[in-house]
Amino acid sequence: MESQPRPEQPDPQGAGNGANRVAIPEQPDPPRADSGVDRVLIFDTTLRDGEQSPGASMGMEAKVELAQALADLGADIIEAGFPIASQGDFEAVRAVARTVEGPVIAGLARTFQADIERAWEAIRDAARPRIHVFLATSEIHRDFKLKMACSEIVRRTAAEVERARELCDDVEFSPEDASRTEPEFLAEVVEVAIDAGATTINIPDTVGYAVPGQFASLIRYLKHHVTGIDRAVISVHCHNDLGLAVANSLAAVRAGARQIECTINGIGERAGNCSLEEVVMAMRTRHDFFGIDTGIQGAKLFPTSQLLTKLTGLEVQRNKAIVGANAFAHEAGIHQHGMLMNAATYEIMRPEDVGVDHSRLVLGKHSGRHAFRRRLEDLGHSFDDETLESLFEDFKSLADKKKEIFDSDIDALIEGNVEEFEPHWILEGFQAVAGAGLQHFASVDLRDPEGRVHREAACGEGPIDSVFKAIQRLTGVTAHLRDYRVNSVSIGKDAQGEAQIEVEYAGKTYRGRAVSTDIIDASVRAYLSVINGIANRIVGPVDWKAAAIPVDVSDDVATISSEATADNPAAKGAG
Ligand SMILES: [Zn+2]
Repeated sequence: MESQPRPEQPDPQGAGNGANRVAIPEQPDPPRADSGVDRVLIFDTTLRDGEQSPGASMGMEAKVELAQALADLGADIIEAGFPIASQGDFEAVRAVARTVEGPVIAGLARTFQADIERAWEAIRDAARPRIHVFLATSEIHRDFKLKMACSEIVRRTAAEVERARELCDDVEFSPEDASRTEPEFLAEVVEVAIDAGATTINIPDTVGYAVPGQFASLIRYLKHHVTGIDRAVISVHCHNDLGLAVANSLAAVRAGARQIECTINGIGERAGNCSLEEVVMAMRTRHDFFGIDTGIQGAKLFPTSQLLTKLTGLEVQRNKAIVGANAFAHEAGIHQHGMLMNAATYEIMRPEDVGVDHSRLVLGKHSGRHAFRRRLEDLGHSFDDETLESLFEDFKSLADKKKEIFDSDIDALIEGNVEEFEPHWILEGFQAVAGAGLQHFASVDLRDPEGRVHREAACGEGPIDSVFKAIQRLTGVTAHLRDYRVNSVSIGKDAQGEAQIEVEYAGKTYRGRAVSTDIIDASVRAYLSVINGIANRIVGPVDWKAAAIPVDVSDDVATISSEATADNPAAKGAG
């Protein structure tokens, strides 16, 4: 299909967004109720398409909790699942339909009587139920998946949409793989579905093949060629295989679509679905361009994203738009200086508008003296220019060695301990024994500043607990473990694991991280970096007494096993 050149719609507010925060008008969350304003309905399918992504499966309680959060967020429609797929799916959809108030609750069904009746059974208790019926229309799906002729697809669409409509007033129809369907045939099927009673027509880019200009043309084509199209809401459902799901959805909205199907954090089959937070914030931030509202409460975006991460364990990439850890973090000196003068210099959204507390100025080697001075002030210090300048020099040389500078590092700078940032202890090696029904123990070899190697062994509730305890014994530093996390930073058999550790010692917080293909190794290194950080603060000589004599591991097991209960329970079971 040829894309037809078309003049851009006039900018409803007459001018661009402008670079200055002062020029950005407040963007209050719009009212939920239909009030005559041009609105796009947000159809959240995190619980259906999102849950189909590998690693995202959720139990019933988690689904109900997330559905409630989606209702609070302001989603117009929640697709709660595919009731015929399994008994668990059926029960989850029914539980959502019975407990979550506000949004329309949709259940998915193929064009089979059993599917449609099962979907209806699951959603019928909702105040506003919707049956979502789908049937593939593209040539490749017709020939290889369905083995159905066009005429059969038309007949089934009419019959099954009608069947759904007899049960439920709100029926959505999706011609699966619409973006790869011949436009003439697509228009024919859509028209039949509307005649049979479909109230929403969803145009899925099932395989993420569409590109924005062409996808918008397809929506315009249907608007021009389907009789009765105005009786249905046009919806789009875009996948992200080419990273274009949000762009395609926005292009479709410009062409007249008024429902977007999307998921929290963009999770979904393969590369995922259109990301709800991105598509909503694009329309809100560029209201001057789109002139369209949604019912989403912006300040709930980040908390909802975090809830999904908690429920599924699927971490959001750091640089993900809107909800990634770095989305409102700045390290470069020029950027930090601008941010401190006026946040609009480098931020087009206020973090609080999406539910993030505040922008984060990360201190690192790219940071400038303005950000450094601000952090010192935040920590309650003020210095004359000369002292500040010398501290800044120290900070820069430290930042060359260390990725991120924490408050404890700054304290050390101020106390003149910069010279001691060389690690006290260097890991020479360790051994950890783990296994079901075995006593867990570990031995650790550390080299001290004089080059002597010391060995300690300990038993614990797991290999990680054991090595931490051995390090504590060896260094004489016992810190309270506040947080311990291991994340996989790649996949496969040789995946890199990242260990992050946060401890409290003498009222101060110390953090360490390390990456290794072995999570015990990463944990040991992260823990040791924390202990080294503490050692840098300890005034006076470290007590080597307890660690000076090498210990024979096999002899020591019996004597130390009585101490097996760790005072750092977060570490147990981590191995
Ligand atoms: Zn999908």
